Amino acid sequence: MPDNECILISGAGPVGMITGLYLARQGIPVKLFDTLADIPADHRAATLQPSTLQMLDEIGMTSVLLTRGIKSPIFQYRDRLSNEIVAEFDLGVLKGETPYPFVLQIEQHKTVGIAYDIARKLDGFDIQREREVVSISQDGDGVEISVRLPDGTEEQHRGRYLIGCDGGRSITRKSQGIDFPGFTWKERFIIVANHFDFAAADGYRFRNYVAHPAQWCALMKVPGEEDEGVWRCLFPAMTDESDETVMSDEWIQARYEECLPYDPPYEILHRNLYSVHQRVAERFRLGRVMLAGDAAHVNNPIGGMGMNSGIHDGINLAEKLGRVWRGEADDTLLDRYDRQRRPTAKRYVQAETIRNKQTLEEADLKARQERFDELRATVEDPQKHSEYLRRVSLIAMVEEANSIE
Ligand SMILES: Cc1cc2nc3c(=O)[nH]c(=O)nc-3n(C[C@H](O)[C@H](O)[C@H](O)COP(=O)(O)OP(=O)(O)OC[C@H]3O[C@@H](n4cnc5c(N)ncnc54)[C@H](O)[C@@H]3O)c2cc1C
Repeated sequence: MPDNECILISGAGPVGMITGLYLARQGIPVKLFDTLADIPADHRAATLQPSTLQMLDEIGMTSVLLTRGIKSPIFQYRDRLSNEIVAEFDLGVLKGETPYPFVLQIEQHKTVGIAYDIARKLDGFDIQREREVVSISQDGDGVEISVRLPDGTEEQHRGRYLIGCDGGRSITRKSQGIDFPGFTWKERFIIVANHFDFAAADGYRFRNYVAHPAQWCALMKVPGEEDEGVWRCLFPAMTDESDETVMSDEWIQARYEECLPYDPPYEILHRNLYSVHQRVAERFRLGRVMLAGDAAHVNNPIGGMGMNSGIHDGINLAEKLGRVWRGEADDTLLDRYDRQRRPTAKRYVQAETIRNKQTLEEADLKARQERFDELRATVEDPQKHSEYLRRVSLIAMVEEANSIE
């Protein structure tokens, strides 16, 4: 391949892989680099929103995803103080607007694997694993990166553009001196998983948010490795205790007993503890370098928006890069990517996920009641119900972004 004749992508998580697939489908040579030897199978995002399913349909993924995931039209807010269901939202009301009036619950690594299976058959799609991007420089014609191999040696690669899809700690973002303002929540989040059927036990849906002033939780069902059905539970660790304590069986079983006391002790299939941030990069483009996904914005997982909005970034950008690559537009079009995606990341994903967390943890009893009343009133009014669902399923975000010149 001649010098420069490709687009480089740092990071082959969901956003890098899908962006690479979208570019390769347009006949654009693309080189992806990822530090890891394989797609990591730890429990991360698990929800594909209607807006994302619609986009992934264009690149041949949705029909496969539908055979592997769990369709979940209804999600529930519950009050753990009274164990009452506060409100149930039904994405089915969007059936006139989207062919996918539900979210699809499917583990992140399966989504990445499905994208990879389609992409690897395309000419020009080149993925190189165990390759860590360690430095990046750009000039008027292209971008040059140094990539470190497992034996410590480095090789250089050049492309016309580089997309940084290298996650929250993005070397791409740091190398370009792009600030990442925002904040980190004081509590850590722990994800645990088991096989107990919470829907059969107490009327939970496949996606549930359980509010409590001291210890809220979120609960959702994913297919599991054998399609046997796995229930993931997300607890905030409202404590200064060490990671080791919070990850212990004892600590986890105590949270289960507090929040979901149906049949403890539960088996613990999986556990993962992590810090959660709300941050948006100060720019998504600097010259020939662009940021997408967690490299550009991070948020708490309540509502299932982070990976989805990252995939939306990647597809928006890949479509524009296609036009620039084919000479149909000059590369000022890439500034439009920043104008469309950055402000809407703040207005929708940041605002909604912060609000979702506040709904779950509200300690002031009056404010808590008001918020619950608002959720009930939203479901009862067909127009408000539909507007709310368009917002939280990111349909409204995509429409607003696309309308920005
Ligand atoms: C522990 C954890 C749990 C999460 N849980 C949830 C959840 O429950 N629900 C939810 O909605 N979201 C969750 N998220 C967020 C969600 O996983 C992300 O929004 C999503 O993964 C973003 O995709 P991405 O491709 O932008 O970044 P990532 O998935 O982070 O992928 C980045 C990729 O870049 C690679 N990389 C990094 N640096 C380099 C480098 N220098 N060179 C080459 N490759 C590099 C990494 O190996 C990785 O494969 C979680 C995230 C984490 C970290």
